[in-house]
Amino acid sequence: MIIKPKVRGFICINAHPQGCAANVHEQIAFTRAQSPVTSGPKNVLVLGCSTGYGLSSRIAAAFGSGASTLGVCFEKPPTDTKTASAGYYNTSGFHEAAAEAGLFAHTINGDAFSAACKEQVMEIVKSSMGKIDLVVYSLAAPRRTDPVTGEVYSSVLKPIGSAYTAKNLNTDTHKISPISVEPASPEEIAATVKVMGGEDWELWMAALQQQGLLAEGCKTVAYTYLGDKLTWPIYGRATIGKAKEDLDRAADAIGRSLGAVKGEARVAVLKAVVTQASSAIPVMPLYLSILFKVMKEDGTHEGCMEQIQRLFSECLYTATPRLDAAGRLRVDEKELNPAVQQRVEALWEQVDESNLFELTDFAGYNAEFLKLFGFGVTGIDYDAETSPLAATNF
Ligand code: NAD
Repeated sequence: MIIKPKVRGFICINAHPQGCAANVHEQIAFTRAQSPVTSGPKNVLVLGCSTGYGLSSRIAAAFGSGASTLGVCFEKPPTDTKTASAGYYNTSGFHEAAAEAGLFAHTINGDAFSAACKEQVMEIVKSSMGKIDLVVYSLAAPRRTDPVTGEVYSSVLKPIGSAYTAKNLNTDTHKISPISVEPASPEEIAATVKVMGGEDWELWMAALQQQGLLAEGCKTVAYTYLGDKLTWPIYGRATIGKAKEDLDRAADAIGRSLGAVKGEARVAVLKAVVTQASSAIPVMPLYLSILFKVMKEDGTHEGCMEQIQRLFSECLYTATPRLDAAGRLRVDEKELNPAVQQRVEALWEQVDESNLFELTDFAGYNAEFLKLFGFGVTGIDYDAETSPLAATNF
């Protein structure tokens, strides 16, 4: 079939196998071009390994430190008539590159929240890897089935306390109009914490520890976003922000429980980037388009791979990590630079449909969005007949 993007609102419902693999290769090439991370990880578990920050973390561990990696993701395989999800093709591309480089890689495509998936992971660690020295928690999921009660919880992206109205960019029509979001109910807040908070991270770490599968001095990190004034009402101080606060609680609890193996648990604050998860958040596409404009002008623009490279080299594997007062690792300092935020806020006030392409880097945002699904990648012939099955299973 000829595979062209089928964008539906904030999601693209298909993906290009070779385009996705090329993206993975680009990130690998970036990693290889950096100075190697000293004393980096050797045996790594990445939860949410197939796209966005988790994929970059897996690449940084494997191709920056020569680590064996075990990944968990939730992706759709291809059929004769339908493409796989982008994360499936990314993982396929990762496996091919890892095999070529002689690196151990294993991926479990299943529900990370389930007890069965945790058991499967424990088995692979025991049979093929040995003790884990880094666990990356990078899941972004809309719902979670409680492994004990079977109850399904859904997360919501809503403000807390009062309704919120802000400019919003419709990425299909390029129209900018106000969007109003009603405040979350207490149940919705609790459900969002259940899905995106720290409970599942704690369950993973407890399972690994109970089975003696954590190496002495192991590290674990979960990812968060704090942002500033423009995004606080819908992120930092909203339902998802509440869930992220729960990660701080969990980091503390996990850190204490890792005492016996001299392990360390940290939350890492990363910058806003284009991923499948972030493009679904109201306000984010416009905020990111403006942020890209400002940070590209300054030469400080970063994507997932650049952020994770710095997280490894400047925070996780250094004697002098950049920590905030709450003990979180910080690589979002360039985005949150007050001068950058002031310029973003000024452009935010001025932007409308007539000047969207002039005042913002919406073109860059859109190109990165399509790239998430393997489209618009240099060197790929999008008019060529392509089999959706043209990817190795993993
Ligand atoms: P993403 O959508 O690109 O990746 C989500 C990953 O989770 C994928 O690998 C997916 O397969 C996996 N996943 C989802 N549900 C699963 C399930 N039930 N079982 C197994 N795997 C599952 O998201 P992302 O933006 O890279 O987000 C990763 C983390 O980084 C999140 O905690 C997010 O809050 C955080 N973060 C994101 C940004 C941003 O701007 N995107 C900024 C800072 C922090």
